[in-house]
Amino acid sequence: MDGFLLTYDGFDPRTEGLREALTSTGNGYLCTRGAAEWEDADGVHYPGTYAHGGYNRETTMMGGLPVLNEDLVNLPNWLVLQVRVEGEDAIRFDDVELLGYRHEYDIRHATVLRRLRFRDHAGRETTLTSRRFVSMADAHHAGIEWTLVPENWSGHVEVISALDSRVTNSGVPRYRQLEGRHLNPVSPRTFGPEVIALKAETRQSNIYISQATRTRVFQGGEQLPATRTLYQMEDYIQQVLAFDVRQGEATRVEKMVAFYTSRDPAVSDTLVRAARSAARHSDFAGASERHGAAWDELWRTCDVGASGNEQVQLLLRLHIAHLLQVCSPHTADLDAGMPARGLNGEAYRGHVFWDEMYAFPFLSVRLPEVARGLLMYRYRRIGEARAAAREAGFRGAMFPWQSGSEGVEETQRVHLNPLSGRWEPDLSRNQRHVNAAIFFNIWNYFQATSDYAFLESYGAEMMLDIARFWASIAHFNSARERYEIHGVMGPDEFHEKYPGAQQGGLRNNAYTNVMVAWLCDIAAKLPSLLSASSAEGLRARLGIGDDELALWQDMSRRMFVPFDSGGIISQFEGWDELEELDWDAYRAKYENIQRLDRILRAEGDDPDRYKIAKQADTVMLFFLFSDEELREIFERLGYDYGSDTAARNIAYYDQRTSHGSTLSFVTHAGVLAALDPESSWERFLVALRSDVDDIQGGTTQEGIHMGVMAGTLEVVQRYYAGTQIRDGVLYFTPRLPSGLDGLSFPLQFRETPLLVTLGGGQLTVAVHPDGASHPIRAGIPGDVRELCPGDRAVFGLA
Ligand code: BGC
Repeated sequence: MDGFLLTYDGFDPRTEGLREALTSTGNGYLCTRGAAEWEDADGVHYPGTYAHGGYNRETTMMGGLPVLNEDLVNLPNWLVLQVRVEGEDAIRFDDVELLGYRHEYDIRHATVLRRLRFRDHAGRETTLTSRRFVSMADAHHAGIEWTLVPENWSGHVEVISALDSRVTNSGVPRYRQLEGRHLNPVSPRTFGPEVIALKAETRQSNIYISQATRTRVFQGGEQLPATRTLYQMEDYIQQVLAFDVRQGEATRVEKMVAFYTSRDPAVSDTLVRAARSAARHSDFAGASERHGAAWDELWRTCDVGASGNEQVQLLLRLHIAHLLQVCSPHTADLDAGMPARGLNGEAYRGHVFWDEMYAFPFLSVRLPEVARGLLMYRYRRIGEARAAAREAGFRGAMFPWQSGSEGVEETQRVHLNPLSGRWEPDLSRNQRHVNAAIFFNIWNYFQATSDYAFLESYGAEMMLDIARFWASIAHFNSARERYEIHGVMGPDEFHEKYPGAQQGGLRNNAYTNVMVAWLCDIAAKLPSLLSASSAEGLRARLGIGDDELALWQDMSRRMFVPFDSGGIISQFEGWDELEELDWDAYRAKYENIQRLDRILRAEGDDPDRYKIAKQADTVMLFFLFSDEELREIFERLGYDYGSDTAARNIAYYDQRTSHGSTLSFVTHAGVLAALDPESSWERFLVALRSDVDDIQGGTTQEGIHMGVMAGTLEVVQRYYAGTQIRDGVLYFTPRLPSGLDGLSFPLQFRETPLLVTLGGGQLTVAVHPDGASHPIRAGIPGDVRELCPGDRAVFGLA
């Protein structure tokens, strides 16, 4: 089906977890794994449901030590739908002979489908088709439709429809030693003859979650008066619908579900709210139509057309759909961050990292209200960030490396090495660079939208307090006459400290220091961008004097950047003294060396000793900034920036990076687009396939990688189409890879919707006739034009 269908033929227990993650259905409020309705969590199947902000903290006693973790809670399982024939056991994959099986994910409408034909032990053959969605039209609704056809028999059937809160967080094997119980039962209830409902509460954070469902059976378009039998416990409620079926005739079962939590607005009792909502729910066909229309509208804003390669087109759309399942217009007002692993698995506990940096460029020019919502998630936690800075002896706001409900540091202090089975110290919280990422995202959002209201009310305050944090963690080294930052880590998580050191952190991570030089320049100028009264009010409120602005200005000129003797930027000070690793030997010894850190530690060695990187670190600079921007930053700092600086540094680190985070393929694909198009395309394809093919051997079933999925879209937008916003101008410097014939995508620049088309040696920018009344400036370097609503500009490409 025209580039919108992911399909699997045949059931495979080994990859079912991966398929469940990839065929999750969500709407930016709630997301549920693509598990079969009739299966429980059992090592093969894992029916998980997650909602933004549904966090809970639990303590695990480990050898007498209390270990506290906050997790995104696996919510009650609303899927449960089972069938029993002639009073026998409910059908499960294990008990029947599959005669045909197909599992599909319709990307266009985020709908999961299963079609199966099976023979049970009595020789009865049955066809079952299941369709399911979580509504993009009504955020609190979801629906399942089953069509049952007895092929060679007639008889009595019972359908069990249940809501089950006896679930735990047990989707990630590495975490199973940690407390996985997060829910307490509250109560089951019935509302009239058809609606059953269940309420649960998170054990520590006291969030109420209620689900209600109405299940009905239809034959020949008429609802059957099935007999209903109820069974309820405090944490489980089910209804059994009994009826007869006839050979060759289809029976439809509809399970329509409503879902509310006490975090939702306009709710008194979640249980009553959910029940009322379920009772008013339309039938499956009507709900599905509205859901489809809401997705169609989203695609009009968010599709990226790539011609010349069907696989690439399909996977880009899969990535768009997954991004929208987690970050949709429903997310904008939810107080939600972007969990690094989406809302369909429990890896990284649903925490929010720096990965959103890869999603902002896509969202800011398509769904700016969603990007703004993600920034508001940070703003609402600025109090904790200020407290964290203060408690660490700094000023300003220090946002955590891993963020959850309250914005306190959620990074655990130990993590399990699955290769050695040992718990190892985790120092990754020293990745203070997340604070540069947040600053970058605010600036990126503002560049794309010129949303002064946001900047003046929230954005500028975060930016200034982040600059203040950096100025206080930095110190002036008078011998060098430069500012330095010690005790931090870059994105490369293989280096948490110097070899043999007791304390975590490194000196002068180049990525961090350059980001700080860049952001200090903007922060120093920021008050002059605001209206006089806003600037004055903000400066008075934060107590920012001229001396502080001058300090930031000075830091933008005098941050220290380490270089090695050959002029290569050192990832951090002291990198040059580390040993080279014998990469060939490790490649020969291990099938996959992406996680060299785990391999080396399991061997009793220490990754800190070597010139190795898990992922792009210094190279991130070349990804985030154009060559002109970096030249400007380096020259302002008084460092050389030659025409080969990018190429030499990228090549140097490429040889020393294991790409143990798939984010790294995205980054390298981007930076190589101009330097080595073939190699860029190769990396891009790896990033594009990394989740569908689960190239890290088992990680995707624990949750898709949001940063990578969004990152592939960023590579297309920013590198292959060359889209960049500078000084209020929307520039395109296209580098269409030979693997593609053309690209076309809508985007929105400063309230003006555009359609960008690239191919056949030309670039067309068409401004939608309903655009904002003010003209925009767009073009290619050397040919920038002013465009009004309805204008269409064609640029010839060399
Ligand atoms: C990466 C980080 C990333 C995190 C969450 C880690 O493996 O190294 O850069 O933020 O995963 O996706």
